[in-house]
Amino acid sequence: MALSDLNPVERNEEGIAAVLGILKQRFGERFQTGAAIRGQHAHTTTYIPTQAPDGVAFAETTAEVQEIVRACAAHRVPVIAFGVGSSLEGHTNAPGGGISIDTSRMNRILAVNPQDLDCTVEPGVTREDLNRHLRDTGLFFPIDPGANASLGGMAATRASGTNAVRYGTMRENVLSLTAVMADGETVTTGKRAKKSSAGYDLTRLLVGSEGTLGVITSLTLRLQGIPQAISGGVCPFPSLEAACNTVIATIQMGIPVARIELINALQMRAMKNYSKLDYPESPCLFVEFHGSDAGVAEQAETFGMIAEENGGGPFLWTSVAEERTKLWKARHDAYWSSLTLRPGAKGLSTDVCVPISRLAECVTETEADIAEMGLVAPIVGHAGDGNFHVLVLMDVDNPAEIALAEKFVARLNMRAIAMEGTCTGEHGIGQGKVGFLRRELGHGVDIMRMIKQALDPLNIMNPGKILPAAG
Ligand SMILES: Cc1cc2nc3c(=O)[nH]c(=O)nc-3n(C[C@H](O)[C@H](O)[C@H](O)COP(=O)(O)OP(=O)(O)OC[C@H]3O[C@@H](n4cnc5c(N)ncnc54)[C@H](O)[C@@H]3O)c2cc1C
Repeated sequence: MALSDLNPVERNEEGIAAVLGILKQRFGERFQTGAAIRGQHAHTTTYIPTQAPDGVAFAETTAEVQEIVRACAAHRVPVIAFGVGSSLEGHTNAPGGGISIDTSRMNRILAVNPQDLDCTVEPGVTREDLNRHLRDTGLFFPIDPGANASLGGMAATRASGTNAVRYGTMRENVLSLTAVMADGETVTTGKRAKKSSAGYDLTRLLVGSEGTLGVITSLTLRLQGIPQAISGGVCPFPSLEAACNTVIATIQMGIPVARIELINALQMRAMKNYSKLDYPESPCLFVEFHGSDAGVAEQAETFGMIAEENGGGPFLWTSVAEERTKLWKARHDAYWSSLTLRPGAKGLSTDVCVPISRLAECVTETEADIAEMGLVAPIVGHAGDGNFHVLVLMDVDNPAEIALAEKFVARLNMRAIAMEGTCTGEHGIGQGKVGFLRRELGHGVDIMRMIKQALDPLNIMNPGKILPAAG
């Protein structure tokens, strides 16, 4: 997949001019058209070039989102919902121009229901905001992508993170949501019941739809009780394969590990320098267990034995909160630490996910490919889910390097698909992975296109994302 393959979207100059006039008049200072702010709203954390929207509207209510969408629908102008812009595949780009709806001012926590372990929030609340708000309730929201993303953006990309192996992804943790659809009408997809068999699952249709079907304006989320005891630590391994085999055995034995993250030697070097960690520069697993005091101790011991059988260890673990926090902060900063391995380079992040039994095979083949192609590309991953990231560091001004990175990514994505996995475990398709969707889902893409056509016949909701323009 080359940059030239990015889905083109035709600009509707007349419609855009009309909508700019309407929104300026209606929203005043809350509608911005300056180049810097427009660029910032299409900014992508990868090498995909910025394609700025024509204006940014800072909506504060569902009714305002409806107004903006209606104006855009009337003039056939694209609408791109925006959370904090931490997505990695050109998701917030505006290839045909249009209006970015910034949800950062829709940041109210509308209800917390401790007895039912759920809460309702507006889409601009970030995951860290929510957890700060919940601190005194004994509850927490477990989904933790590396960035402090908005909950609307996280639902829209079906995000996950280090805790997903225990608590699931946004797919499992959004109970229902309200969205403004392409015609400006709102839909609420469910109630607060823990389960429901009421018709088609519209919640899960919108979760992961990347703003291509509707703009989410509130979400009801599942919460978890903060565990009585948490322990965690780091275990070094002689090879990446040994670390992967330990992950596979841990999951297959049903140890309810809360986090199990794979770090290769190069990534470990970056983290040691950037986050001042004092661990060996070898492949490692970062692990965490949640439960009772006795439970976490038992899980840690069993894990230590499995690691030892695979040639790993010593497994050093602790229940001291500050030490664990330092470890997981370093893990969440892995992306930024990687960039220091090649100053000036940009990162192209991948996120394939394979069935757990194929993890070691997929990771070792990938590591061999990195070496053969001469890339600087650390590996880190949510290995308990069979999900891992390779961050290819490249000089984006060098077309040969871009071509090589794209070749590597294509091989990696196809390898995962051939192993009955996916090209994206959590980042989504955006623009960057459009070329792989049909290879993964075949006729499923045609069904998606029919859904898109039915719900957004004018193709105004984040056009150019997820679905290939043709074929
Ligand atoms: C350092 C780093 C680490 C990361 N680690 C992880 C990780 O571990 N796991 C993971 O899953 N992701 C990870 N990501 C990716 C990113 O954080 C997620 O994709 C995140 O879920 C996007 O949220 P956002 O608020 O930034 O959304 P944005 O980037 O603003 O938008 C993302 C997409 O969602 C749509 N959208 C946003 N808000 C709404 C809304 N209210 N209604 C409808 N559509 C909307 C947008 O149109 C766009 O298509 C990482 C990113 C970075 C930079």
